[in-house]
Amino acid sequence: MANSYDVIVIGSGPGGYIAAIRAAQLGLKVAVVEREHLAGICSNWGCIPTKALLRSAEVLHLAEHAKNYGLTLEGKISPDLQAIVKRSRGIAERMNGGVAFLMKKNKVDVIWGEAKLTKANEIVVAKTTKAIVQPQGPIPKNTLGEGTYTAKHIIVATGARPRALPGIEPDGKLIWTYFEAMKPEEMPKSLLVMGSGAIGIEFASFYRTMGVDVTVVEVMSQVMPVEDAEISAFAKKQFDKQGMKIILDAKVTKVEKSANSVTAHVEKKDGSVEKITADRMISAVGVQGNIENLGLEALGVKTDRGCIVIDGYGKTNVPGVYAIGDVAGPPMLAHKAEHEAVICVEKIAGLPNVHPMDKLKIPGCTYCNPQVASVGLTEARAKAEGRDIRVGRFPFVANGKAIALGEDQGLVKTIFDKKTGELLGAHLVGAEVTELIQGFVVAMNLETTEEDLMHTIFPHPTISETLKESVLDAYGRALNA
Ligand SMILES: Cc1cc2nc3c(=O)[nH]c(=O)nc-3n(C[C@H](O)[C@H](O)[C@H](O)COP(=O)(O)OP(=O)(O)OC[C@H]3O[C@@H](n4cnc5c(N)ncnc54)[C@H](O)[C@@H]3O)c2cc1C
Repeated sequence: MANSYDVIVIGSGPGGYIAAIRAAQLGLKVAVVEREHLAGICSNWGCIPTKALLRSAEVLHLAEHAKNYGLTLEGKISPDLQAIVKRSRGIAERMNGGVAFLMKKNKVDVIWGEAKLTKANEIVVAKTTKAIVQPQGPIPKNTLGEGTYTAKHIIVATGARPRALPGIEPDGKLIWTYFEAMKPEEMPKSLLVMGSGAIGIEFASFYRTMGVDVTVVEVMSQVMPVEDAEISAFAKKQFDKQGMKIILDAKVTKVEKSANSVTAHVEKKDGSVEKITADRMISAVGVQGNIENLGLEALGVKTDRGCIVIDGYGKTNVPGVYAIGDVAGPPMLAHKAEHEAVICVEKIAGLPNVHPMDKLKIPGCTYCNPQVASVGLTEARAKAEGRDIRVGRFPFVANGKAIALGEDQGLVKTIFDKKTGELLGAHLVGAEVTELIQGFVVAMNLETTEEDLMHTIFPHPTISETLKESVLDAYGRALNA
């Protein structure tokens, strides 16, 4: 039957499109339904376009510090906002086109429209209320549209959207979400960022480097609250040096708007209220799963705090219905969505030895300046779990490559189980740590001990040598500090 599949995936973000490709590789007949843009939030409004903006900021920073490298740049170096945004949007379009190509290559049907489950094995696709972003390049020939479709297995991969605080709802003009922050029409002179999670602090970093007067308000007692406290404190010192104003243990309780600015009432721990006026404000208080209007209630699919409840293989409580990615709960990261997609589809296909998701081994990366990356237990969590631990640290100031690069502000911290030598966690701050963390992720996945890591030869000169030194330090054997 033309409208009948083995697997239908609702949503084509990193969860959805990877699920579709893996299902096709395993010989299953598969379709993906998308209401707005192939490649989801990640490529269109998240991971990739933000990294493009941050790259512009990095180049600007380097150019401004050219003298430190013995270079004289003539004339004033100033950001061209329209060109920066154009580059970022162009890259997003390219990613979107890339997924279109992959759908075609893997013979995945693309169904344009808004999907709703009508039965555990049936969806109805209605005309979308969103403006469809047509991919550049080869559009899959077998593109379908509104109608009823059936599948033995339906995977919900509908992602998430910005969370809003009551009374401080984004209006797209003065109070932005990541959508507006990604493509500002003009550069604000001052900006208030509410929330210092990965999204908030990346935008704070971008705008600060662009010369904007940035204030970050965070309700918790550290920036990037999920990170190890020591790493977070190290990063904060760098942000302070860059002139970012960070107010911790404080919350925005009210916002007054004028024609071209906002005044936020910031309530501090001691009960005092500071009024902060800024041209624009970014609300970065988290995201919430897209669980509405999917027919989940009628089918009895369990949800919890705005996300679909799944087991380690993406199964919901309703046979035949699965969920992956942001809509299936935190951590809301693209690589978590992709890995969940593969696990879910391989389980559906009946492959042997499919490993359930182990959330402790999901790395987290934040691309602010300095970058932050981590995997596994923080020191506080390891202690709270009653673990007997050894902690190693190694600073970038003692690493030749970091010094040669002019990037000597960083720290690597490793946490080991004292008895077994198992690597429990790794926490990094500094240049390129988002690339370096993968060494520790592989190590943790292989259940590596300190001994294996000490026997590993790291190339010289590289910043990666700080990883080994941190391991050595945990055992009182650091060689270069
Ligand atoms: C500013 C920002 C920066 C980020 N940076 C990073 C980063 O550096 N690294 C990282 O790992 N993560 C990052 N993320 C998070 C990352 O984007 C998400 O974790 C990821 O996109 C989740 O993938 P997903 O497939 O679950 O959902 P999404 O990417 O949200 O895709 C869901 C898709 O489903 C479609 N859809 C929804 N409902 C329906 C329906 N009823 N019918 C049809 N289609 C539907 C949507 O249009 C969308 O295309 C960032 C997010 C933001 C906002």
